[in-house]
Amino acid sequence: MKHSDFEAFGGKAVRAHTLTNENTTVTIIDYGARIQSLTFDGVSVVCGFSSLAGYLADKDYHGAIVGRYANRIKNGKFSLNGKTYTLAKNETARNCHLHGGNIGFSSRLFTVTDCRDNAITLSLSSPDGEEGYPGNLTVNVTYTLENDTLTIEYRAKSDADTVINLTNHAYFNLGGVGKESVLDQTLTLHASAIAEVDDTLIPTGRLLPVQNTPFDFNTPKKIGSDITAKNEQLRVGAGYDHGFLLTEQAPAAILSSEKSGISMAISTTEPAIQVYTANFMTADNPFFSKYPQIKNEAIALECNRLPDSPNRAEFPSALLKAGEEYRQKTSYRFYKNQ
Ligand code: BGC
Repeated sequence: MKHSDFEAFGGKAVRAHTLTNENTTVTIIDYGARIQSLTFDGVSVVCGFSSLAGYLADKDYHGAIVGRYANRIKNGKFSLNGKTYTLAKNETARNCHLHGGNIGFSSRLFTVTDCRDNAITLSLSSPDGEEGYPGNLTVNVTYTLENDTLTIEYRAKSDADTVINLTNHAYFNLGGVGKESVLDQTLTLHASAIAEVDDTLIPTGRLLPVQNTPFDFNTPKKIGSDITAKNEQLRVGAGYDHGFLLTEQAPAAILSSEKSGISMAISTTEPAIQVYTANFMTADNPFFSKYPQIKNEAIALECNRLPDSPNRAEFPSALLKAGEEYRQKTSYRFYKNQ
């Protein structure tokens, strides 16, 4: 593993940690414990920025660990043990809490607490009441690179009952960042249903079966095949921006580019994947200082719980009991197409 100075943030140095193995190189930075870059077979397959300024200007959570709760919580409120908690409503246009609030984990400086040749653990503490959440929470995220597989293991503990939903928000483009639209890439996703969302992208509570709809990726399909189909859910999401309930976890999803000949298989212990086809990606903040951000440039495949689960008893639970351990393991295996 190689360590270098990325830049300074709030008077503290942000370090970059590079793991290399066979055909894969991945760099993680302390800021948001983000994947800053990932190359496989010489192709850059995760969107990122070459300087901290790019991350400070970023509104799309590039490469970041997102928490305490990834995705949206309706009206920024939930009840637990008879008490209502009010969270930061940082997505004002939709009057909701998004991706952990004003200063979520994606904007926090993590501390390296363990470092081996092929693995690094980054940790943070989130005090009781931060962004409105109950409980003093400690979080450890371990990135391991082995045999062209990047594994992220998450562990967290709270001293009071709370809710938690951690994910990594990397945007993948297996054809190479800036080289090809993700609409031309093929996705396989083993899922039975999506969580239907309303006009503010908050789940209605209904699970819509994917069979015979544009949301069916059980047989491999180009991401762009049906994205412009006449469909109410595609209209509200301006494309795919939905939580898919998984039927298989290993692998749960496979993404492939014919052009580069690269594939990635994702396996996870989580019950769902949020598929977001970068429908709102238009920021004037070029990737690696040279590739403009373009709608549908990449895809985020966020392994986690469904959005707004703290308000939806019918969804897989996001409750973390005091003293119990939250664990998640998600891996991304890169390989050349046969
Ligand atoms: C959400 C999108 C959101 C994006 C960036 C995704 O996880 O599903 O609705 O625009 O993150 O915040």
